[in-house]
Amino acid sequence: MSRRKKLFPCGHKGYGQRCHRCDQAQVAWERKKQEKNAWEDKFDKDPIDLRTLPRNVVFKARKILKELANRKNYREFHGKRLRHDRFVISIPVTRHYRLICRDQGNLLVPEAVISHEEYNVCKPGH
Ligand SMILES: [Zn+2]
Repeated sequence: MSRRKKLFPCGHKGYGQRCHRCDQAQVAWERKKQEKNAWEDKFDKDPIDLRTLPRNVVFKARKILKELANRKNYREFHGKRLRHDRFVISIPVTRHYRLICRDQGNLLVPEAVISHEEYNVCKPGH
């Protein structure tokens, strides 16, 4: 077997039938693509759209949504009823994001995760 380096069509030099550098890059790219797809697929399972939110907000919101679905009380997440609409409950997700839920009697229906700025715009009299 010859140990002479050869020049691959990609421009890299190396041994063997295929360029190992390009093979490795291909594997890394495939893995990254799979991770991205797995991340995007999860949004289909969320009860509300979390796609536009920062990653850490998505994680925290999912945790709260899951626990609410398991009938955990919103007060455990420091959720509060809005003063001007007692059927709307605001739960802090991070310092800048709130999960808005609607109280439908014995059911708490998540509506959206909104930023603090959007939340303040929603308030009447502002
Ligand atoms: Zn190559």
